[in-house]
Amino acid sequence: MAIGVKVMKRPEREMSYVRAALKGMALTFKHMLQPKVTMQYPEERSTADERGSYAVAPRWRGTHRMLADEQGRSKCVACGLCPQICPANCIKLVPGEDEEGNRYPLIYEIDEFRCVFCGYCQEVCPEEAIHVGVHFENAEYSRDRFVYDLERLTSQTHQVSSLWDPADVRGQ
Ligand code: SF4
Ligand code: SF4
Repeated sequence: MAIGVKVMKRPEREMSYVRAALKGMALTFKHMLQPKVTMQYPEERSTADERGSYAVAPRWRGTHRMLADEQGRSKCVACGLCPQICPANCIKLVPGEDEEGNRYPLIYEIDEFRCVFCGYCQEVCPEEAIHVGVHFENAEYSRDRFVYDLERLTSQTHQVSSLWDPADVRGQ
């Protein structure tokens, strides 16, 4: 797309700025009469399920969530892809193996403080186990509380983020 450049001429003679000031004030008053769009957080909250002006986008990437199977076990098979692809190097995985040769995570931790919420871990996971989620209220009083272990990741209940779909670039 061609970029249009608008050249603004400098005034060649002395001029009053009253007109420009009045135009600015008119714009301000026009906005005063329009409906307010500020959300009164935390009294008002938005969720991904809501439809309306405050809805969080379903592709919002926030706090992680590990999905579990019907028996309540994490779906992770400790393949090692997510720590490998993570650009922030904030996933710690120690794999284990049961007597039938099934792999599972002995330790699985994500440092949400170092995470850049790129969503690569969700995209690369072959089991659709780890997800970034539609959740942003994860303030803590100490830094170590941002390291989510497997139990904490599995106990999260918020909605998981939708992946970017090339056929629907605007997420509609
Ligand atoms: S969202 Fe990105 S930075 Fe965060 S844990 Fe996943 S891969 Fe790493
Ligand atoms: S990519 Fe998925 S299955 Fe593999 S280690 Fe990560 S969470 Fe587990």
